[in-house]
Amino acid sequence: MQDIIHQPGQPGLSPPPRADLALCAQADPDAWFPEHGFENSIETRTARRICGGCPVRVPCLAYALGRRERHGIWGGLTYAERRQLARGTERAA
Ligand code: SF4
Repeated sequence: MQDIIHQPGQPGLSPPPRADLALCAQADPDAWFPEHGFENSIETRTARRICGGCPVRVPCLAYALGRRERHGIWGGLTYAERRQLARGTERAA
């Protein structure tokens, strides 16, 4: 079984991204879980920039969307951004 990145696994619609390729695995995980109101902090912006270059960004985002993950930055997107993306996808379908 693969490790996942942020927290113990629950089955989702998408397989978890590979932890061995995740760039966040080499950084402070707190940056991916900003407290409410700190979503635009330097640490969080740095985390999002790291996500932008991560080789598992797409499966990471798909995994979070599949689980309707409410916490943290996944694939470079916050929960609010993931909700917005999911709504747009549902409307387009
Ligand atoms: S996209 Fe971001 S949150 Fe997802 S595995 Fe990569 S670095 Fe971690």
